[in-house]
Amino acid sequence: MIQAKGYAAQSPTNDLAPWDFERRDVGAHDVQIEILYCGVCHSDLHQITNDWFEGIFPMVPGHEIVGRVIKVGDHVKNFKVDDLAGVGCMVDSCQQCDNCKQDLEQYCLEGNTQTYNNLDRSGVPTYGGYSNTIVVREEFVLHISDKVDLAATAPMLCAGITTYSPLRFWKVGKGHKLAVLGLGGLGHMGVKWGVAFGAEVTVLSTSPNKEQAAKDLGAHHFVVTSDKEQVKKVKGTFDFILDTVSAEHDMHLYLSMLKTNGTHICVGAPPKPMEVPVFDLLGGRKSVAGSGIGGIKETQEMLDFAAEHNIACDVEIIDIKNITASYERMVKGDVRYRFVIDMATL
Ligand SMILES: [Zn+2]
Ligand SMILES: [Zn+2]
Repeated sequence: MIQAKGYAAQSPTNDLAPWDFERRDVGAHDVQIEILYCGVCHSDLHQITNDWFEGIFPMVPGHEIVGRVIKVGDHVKNFKVDDLAGVGCMVDSCQQCDNCKQDLEQYCLEGNTQTYNNLDRSGVPTYGGYSNTIVVREEFVLHISDKVDLAATAPMLCAGITTYSPLRFWKVGKGHKLAVLGLGGLGHMGVKWGVAFGAEVTVLSTSPNKEQAAKDLGAHHFVVTSDKEQVKKVKGTFDFILDTVSAEHDMHLYLSMLKTNGTHICVGAPPKPMEVPVFDLLGGRKSVAGSGIGGIKETQEMLDFAAEHNIACDVEIIDIKNITASYERMVKGDVRYRFVIDMATL
């Protein structure tokens, strides 16, 4: 076994603290990565507090991993020692079902293996990126360009692909009016992709003081959703709403902003079910949809597109010792837009 160190929550009521643990040895098809940076996703906090479901403890969170390859198995074809590499939200899938065969491993019919808080296919708990090293089968490791900012690239592995994939699937681009609901880790990437794909982008937010930040990211318009006059002006105007909010919200309000045939795409995950007024859907043939991360092939395409177009996350680099304080700031929305742990501080 490989000795690893990281930060773990020992139970859903414990703060994260240093923890030594073991990773599997590098198998024939595995890549071992020395982790350099790991992004802090809002879902990390949801999971260590059992907000969504009962977790597996001790839990080492982190699924926005960038690092350097330090060892490869005998049958590894696409990676060599010293390559830059990334790992996102999943580390395995069945590789045989209809979805896996179509490069949709995130929707594996047997369930994909999550990077942490999951059991791998041999029944051993997976541990995430708040650690110094990780072993992952080669098919689930991404190539990272040596021209990019590594810290700013780490959150692309979750926040980046989660917003890229639906905009590509629904072919959002020139001639479309796209609204991005919420301006956090996901939302700020939604704005960047929307602009890069040629859409006319509006940020919908409850806080008027985010307008300048939205414009700085390239958004064309900004609407304060608590302002009745501003809301009235955008009624029936958007082709798509990319909904990144992971708390309960008023679907009637947002569905009223969609055009006929418009689609409301959920990528945030509120813990409780939300009410969707069906009358709002009937009156305009509207859809409510959801999308989860992206397949490995598409994640690589996203990373390559981002490197080519100089797109990355806006990040604040932190010392891992400050992780609990950073969670408190994240909950208040006091981060632009993603914390990234510098693993040299471990
Ligand atoms: Zn995430
Ligand atoms: Zn599968």
